[in-house]
Amino acid sequence: MFIAHLPAGYLLTRRLLDRAPAGDALSRRILAFGLFASVLPDFDLLYFYLIDNRQTLHHLYWPHLPAFWIVPAALSLLICAKTKNGTLTLVSLVFYANVFLHLVLDTVAGRVLWLYPFHPDSFVLVDVPARYGWWVWNFVLHWTFGLELLICAWAVAIFARSKRKRPAIGQSAN
Ligand SMILES: [Zn+2]
Repeated sequence: MFIAHLPAGYLLTRRLLDRAPAGDALSRRILAFGLFASVLPDFDLLYFYLIDNRQTLHHLYWPHLPAFWIVPAALSLLICAKTKNGTLTLVSLVFYANVFLHLVLDTVAGRVLWLYPFHPDSFVLVDVPARYGWWVWNFVLHWTFGLELLICAWAVAIFARSKRKRPAIGQSAN
């Protein structure tokens, strides 16, 4: 997925914040944290381009392994259940929900090792054929990119609606 991680993270985080209102200032910080988490696995592209010299598909690095995130997510849930801290629970939920949403969205047209280390196969919903010389065109000109555009349009609509409904959010500090 190319352009829809951030808008999808926005939609998911707004949804979680709507269900557990946290006040304007805290909501803004949690929203920013959710957006950060929504793209966090793709920070491995720095390693891919700068160090690994594009030797390995970046979906095979640990930031894109569901198995890597499951352990801290489970620990975090346990701590939240033990402490019964509402804010900590919301922040943890926003973080891990966004990370896993990233991996799910990457599975639409890119391979993810969902069963690693128990099974070596990677999974993809739609195999995008290599039709063009520059690999980016293979994805941008494939129908699955329409899904990304839909997510972007949806996020823009929700953002615009939230500005109309709650003009105070994001403006109280300005
Ligand atoms: Zn990714």
